[in-house]
Amino acid sequence: MLAALLYGQEDLRLEQIAEPTPAAGEVIMQVTTATTCGTDLKVWRRGGHAKMLTLPTPFGHEAAGIVAAVGDGVTAWQVGDRIVANNSAPCGTCFFCQRQEYSLCPHLCFNNGTFAQYLRIPTPIVQHNLLSIPQDLTDALAAMTEPLACVLHGIARSQVKPGDRVVVLGDGAIGLMFVAALAHGYGAGGMGTLEPAPEVLLFGGRDARLRIGEALGAAKTFNYRQINDVPTQVKSLTDGWGADVVIEATGIPAVWERAIACARPGATVNLFGGCPRDTTITVNTDQLHYSELTLKGVFHNTPYFVREALALIASHRVPLELLVSDRRPLKDLEQAFWDMGDRTVLKVAIQP
Ligand SMILES: [Zn+2]
Ligand SMILES: [Zn+2]
Repeated sequence: MLAALLYGQEDLRLEQIAEPTPAAGEVIMQVTTATTCGTDLKVWRRGGHAKMLTLPTPFGHEAAGIVAAVGDGVTAWQVGDRIVANNSAPCGTCFFCQRQEYSLCPHLCFNNGTFAQYLRIPTPIVQHNLLSIPQDLTDALAAMTEPLACVLHGIARSQVKPGDRVVVLGDGAIGLMFVAALAHGYGAGGMGTLEPAPEVLLFGGRDARLRIGEALGAAKTFNYRQINDVPTQVKSLTDGWGADVVIEATGIPAVWERAIACARPGATVNLFGGCPRDTTITVNTDQLHYSELTLKGVFHNTPYFVREALALIASHRVPLELLVSDRRPLKDLEQAFWDMGDRTVLKVAIQP
């Protein structure tokens, strides 16, 4: 089969490799659509990922497809079923899993290799995070279950209240998903639990993406390149106080600091974008203490939010198809990453 392998920094190769066969408990997915993601772009640029990959590595982690084969003992799935697989699953038994803190599981089983004709789904993912695609849902939409699950997990931990003014920093696919879910009233209690929905202020660097943010429900959007000072702008829009909740979705330490500067007293700041290894930020102790800020790190997703995400996509209440800017064959994968780097495309649906 044809598969993309990452060998190092910006060194992606398409190779013919053996088709996977399922061991007991495993499922083989014929990949029909694999969506690209900002994490893939980071990994491609940096030539690896400390937590998830060793080189050369199968590449890509968001996919939808159909069951091509099942291993011994798999009874829940049959050849031909349409499926979406999360890229990870918790062990279910460790200290953290016992406390339902699944994203902190030190034994998270990660799966990569969606940019290929076939993908092996390991047993823990078959058990915890393999879902059936509803009939009227396209593969490209279903493939976005994983990133949306991360976003819904992020929202649930951000203490957003009805009618809050929420600032989102970052107009990548993740920032735009935050905009879409929040503006449509997705809160800690699920869809429709924020009524009235928050007023979302989106800051990004590309006008085309900011327009998508508006279509997804942002109340106002701003190109930070045309603004002197983002926190000052936020305060001018919030009676001088700052935002009730700030979501950072760029993974740049300086923007983490900017996010904190946009917060009102009592606010929650969700530092969501993963930064390069061993970076640090500076936090003003006065502001943290006297303004009673909550600084939250939120990582990845959990089985609950994987199901929430697919249900939200399947409800068709949020026009998430706006996030898929292109469809391309697997042979054009490398060009897709160059184009993502230039920010001329958002998410690309790769069809192996
Ligand atoms: Zn992703
Ligand atoms: Zn665990």
